[in-house]
Amino acid sequence: MRTLLLALAVVITVSAASPVGQQPPTGAQPPQPPKAKPEDTEVWEPVPPVVTPGATNDAAPSDAIVLFDGKNLDQWVSVKDKTPATWTVADGVLTVDKKGGNIETTRSFKNYQIHVEWRVPPGVTGEGQARGNSGLFLASTGTGDSGYELQILDSYNNKTYVNGQAASVYKQSPPLVNAMRKPGEWNVYDVVWTAPTFNADGSVKTPARVTAFHNGVLVQNDFELSGETLYIGKPSYKAYDRAPIKLQAHGDPSPPISFRNIWVRELK
Ligand code: MG
Repeated sequence: MRTLLLALAVVITVSAASPVGQQPPTGAQPPQPPKAKPEDTEVWEPVPPVVTPGATNDAAPSDAIVLFDGKNLDQWVSVKDKTPATWTVADGVLTVDKKGGNIETTRSFKNYQIHVEWRVPPGVTGEGQARGNSGLFLASTGTGDSGYELQILDSYNNKTYVNGQAASVYKQSPPLVNAMRKPGEWNVYDVVWTAPTFNADGSVKTPARVTAFHNGVLVQNDFELSGETLYIGKPSYKAYDRAPIKLQAHGDPSPPISFRNIWVRELK
């Protein structure tokens, strides 16, 4: 009886493992791919360069070009005639001189990360676009307001068209949210600018893109621009390679805004 049960168990086991009519292959096994290992997906080179961060996340890291550190305007010229910039520097702060006009960097840039701090004065007057208006032009492509403006404005309880409020790509993209601090407090922009590229005939090869944080809050998420930012009319591109960064002296009658701690990191 015991032998019979054992034989039955063997038959059942073989039947389960091997369907009727099929025999396990007896020849050579097909080559198997090597077993995947964690090291297969490790990349060791090139090693990213070491950058020493600032003492705080607002301070310039070791590979930054400091554009304004509170001392002077050596890195800036007047847009209209390229003479040294004449805005007011006092107590470590740069204040717009509206009569002096727009200023721009002496250096030109392509792709970069920039940090800019700005403050609308307490007791600012005016409304809409006429209250604390300035601008960070991510590429200055000519005189006046030519280029690509990330708007600076007092947008704390100040209604205007949304694609013209603070942190908008002017007349192209409203900010995702309004992260404005009130007049008298410092605002911070951290921006990644990917410059447009152009074909030999001047046509657009790749459009400009911008990602921006306002006071640490994402306000532009890899937005693709349709051209330079214009006050009137539809945006369009004009070819350039490298361009200065520009700050706007807006003609509105409200008291001027101030800047501090401006630095930029060039990107490949
Ligand atoms: Mg402006």
